[in-house]
Amino acid sequence: MAASTAGSNGHAVAIEVEGVRYPSARQAALTLGMSTGTVQQRAHSLNFPAYRWLGATPGPRKVRTPEDCLVAKEIIEPAYWAFDGGARRANVLDPNFDPPRVIRRVGWVKCMHCQRFHFSGNVVSVRLCSVCGGAGGWPVGADPHEDA
Ligand SMILES: [Zn+2]
Repeated sequence: MAASTAGSNGHAVAIEVEGVRYPSARQAALTLGMSTGTVQQRAHSLNFPAYRWLGATPGPRKVRTPEDCLVAKEIIEPAYWAFDGGARRANVLDPNFDPPRVIRRVGWVKCMHCQRFHFSGNVVSVRLCSVCGGAGGWPVGADPHEDA
């Protein structure tokens, strides 16, 4: 018969009930005609000194968080900021690398076509504003070609 896994680490933890040793809480429960959960609860409880874990006390089942799951972490994208004349550049980070990797930089850049500043999600490759048909943001200021 396979040993039960009383602990969260996948290894069965031996248990002693009324002076009798069992390889696992499940084995003790089967022998004593109780549920495994009851045996485990009693072993954890101070009210049942005759029930005790032998070896490492199995902890509560680990709560999974997004941080410890083996899935890709979200890209850290800096928030849009007000027009600053193109002064600031902010890094977009990929936290799936250690240390986090800079994958692109965002900021206000001049449109290559209309020369107006627009917020670009990639200051290297996105150089055209949305009015000029690019992937950049809406440009600031009046279109210099409009009244020409
Ligand atoms: Zn433009």
